Amino acid sequence: MLFIANWKMNMLPAQSLDWCLGNKQELADLGADENIEVVICPSFVSLHQVKGILSLMPGVALGAQDCSAHAQGAFTGQVSAAMLAEVGADYCIVGHSERRHHLAESNELVAEKVRRLVEMQIRAISCVGETSAQFEQQLTYDVLQAQLGPVLKVLAHQKPARLVFAYEPVWSIGTGKVAEPDYIASVVSWLHELWQEQLPDSGALVAYGGSVTEENAAQLGRIQGLGGFLIGSASLNFQKFKNIVHLGSSAL
Ligand code: PEP
Repeated sequence: MLFIANWKMNMLPAQSLDWCLGNKQELADLGADENIEVVICPSFVSLHQVKGILSLMPGVALGAQDCSAHAQGAFTGQVSAAMLAEVGADYCIVGHSERRHHLAESNELVAEKVRRLVEMQIRAISCVGETSAQFEQQLTYDVLQAQLGPVLKVLAHQKPARLVFAYEPVWSIGTGKVAEPDYIASVVSWLHELWQEQLPDSGALVAYGGSVTEENAAQLGRIQGLGGFLIGSASLNFQKFKNIVHLGSSAL
């Protein structure tokens, strides 16, 4: 099971190092469990230093929080997939709802980012999810279909490394509200069917994100077909994150 820590724009580089170094042995122990893979996604500016620590820990991978849709060139401030590959990123989150919302990222742009990542053999963590209004109007599957359509098109022409699809209801991110396990289970199963139908060899994994805590991790971990979690605020505290990893994987 995959446990992705998304630190967002939190943790200064020194704090990121403290988090990893101060919990080095426990972190290594989590990764040493063959059923668990941990992915730490710090800010761009901390990737290099964090990699220096994680590279000695099998089962603990490095992830970035975004990448450019362009391969290289005059794109001031952007970070390419090739740069991420050189710094040692194994994974990269794309299409997070905060970027879709604050930076108006389109489904097509997100698909181009996935393309760049696949070219560099970095595993894309593609985030999808409906807003609260869309949930109320029962539009979840239409939204997911629209978000994933361009990604599926891109992937039909590439041979992707293992992919991750993170279902993150927007109304659940950072709100303390968690979707009902039965509801998440039906979305997870729908996503699996979509992949098996359209990309039978992709080995895609479906993760859930949205207010995952120590209180709900065990229950969520029992959802059929769920392959991992994307954890935001609770991942800033190592002990909370560790407990989520233990509880979320206890049903295995
Ligand atoms: C996220 O950032 O993707 C997320 C799920 O955040 P939180 O766990 O804080 O809801």
